[in-house]
Amino acid sequence: MRVSRRDFIKIAAASSAAFVLAQYKMDIIKVFAQHGDYVHICWLNGAACTGCSVSLAQAADPDLLEVLMSITTYTSGLPIALPDWMYVVHPASGSLAVEYINDWIKHEGPGPKILVVEGAMQSPGFCETGGRDFRDWVQDTAQAADYIVAFGSCSSFGGIPHAKGNPTGAMGVQDFLIEVGMEDKAKGVINLPRCPGHPDSLILVLASLLEGVVPELDKYNRPKAFYGRNIHEEQCPFRAFYDRGIFADFGQSEQGCRFKIGCKGPVTWADCPTRKWNDHTSFCIEVGAPCIGCSEPAWPDGDYAPFFVELPQVPTLLGYPAESWGTAFAGAAALGVAVHLARRAMKKKTAEKHKEKGGD
Ligand code: SF4
Ligand code: SF4
Repeated sequence: MRVSRRDFIKIAAASSAAFVLAQYKMDIIKVFAQHGDYVHICWLNGAACTGCSVSLAQAADPDLLEVLMSITTYTSGLPIALPDWMYVVHPASGSLAVEYINDWIKHEGPGPKILVVEGAMQSPGFCETGGRDFRDWVQDTAQAADYIVAFGSCSSFGGIPHAKGNPTGAMGVQDFLIEVGMEDKAKGVINLPRCPGHPDSLILVLASLLEGVVPELDKYNRPKAFYGRNIHEEQCPFRAFYDRGIFADFGQSEQGCRFKIGCKGPVTWADCPTRKWNDHTSFCIEVGAPCIGCSEPAWPDGDYAPFFVELPQVPTLLGYPAESWGTAFAGAAALGVAVHLARRAMKKKTAEKHKEKGGD
């Protein structure tokens, strides 16, 4: 049975929780299957560590292999298909590889053409492939694409290559397209930041685009289904420790809020605590590390640097520093009131911060 466009919008809207994605797994596979020969993806790599390609291989709901086995493409005709072009896994190399990218650019026919970019853009001369500057390839493929997806923090906002100092002039795809005068194309870029990109977010967005549905986006062009909620305020399973003033050191994965070891959860909007990673096994905070805020445009600088130093701007509880909360308020009633006031102050602060940065 064909998945209707209306049904798919429902799935996409409900997909902020991992279990919902698992529930609709067969529907998502069906979307790929029903588009069969007409899945045209060109995947280009700029300044990247290739971690996002590796992350895609961890896709679990649905499993990447299940997705690939549901598609046959016009280039392969095989039951297991690759994108029309993808640097990391495509067997072609040299001039044949260049031919594949040019074929994709020229291809006309049924099915949307989707450009996926992994890695940052750089100033001219820093990244060349197939005898051309990478910037030229992105301009040509972006011009030919129906949809553009920036997968991972580097292609979304510049990521690690764009860190302070930025000797190669690294930037995200959207900023690059604006720089070269392709504002119309820049507007439509769908950003899927995180370091690496989360496979669920890409698989669902690709399925959604095949159905002609662009997910609802926030001010940074990130789908709200994956980036609509603050980690600290709305999702963190360690929040009760924060409220009680119990803080962990490095290596303590069982209990204690990670705030004192630099957790940036209060200024980060991503669904890691509910979606988790590696087949929904765990996520940064749960394994004893702080969240470093890799889903945010300013990362790895701004509020997010240095990684392992606590946020200076988070309000203290009624004037007491965070580490003294547990002892400063001995009575349960006093603690309850204080926690309530602090929660309100934090909520206001994080909302203002998000708004300042242009979020919803
Ligand atoms: S500071 Fe980090 S670990 Fe602590 S409650 Fe907030 S998000 Fe969770
Ligand atoms: S928990 Fe934070 S640092 Fe870890 S992947 Fe999610 S947004 Fe990035």
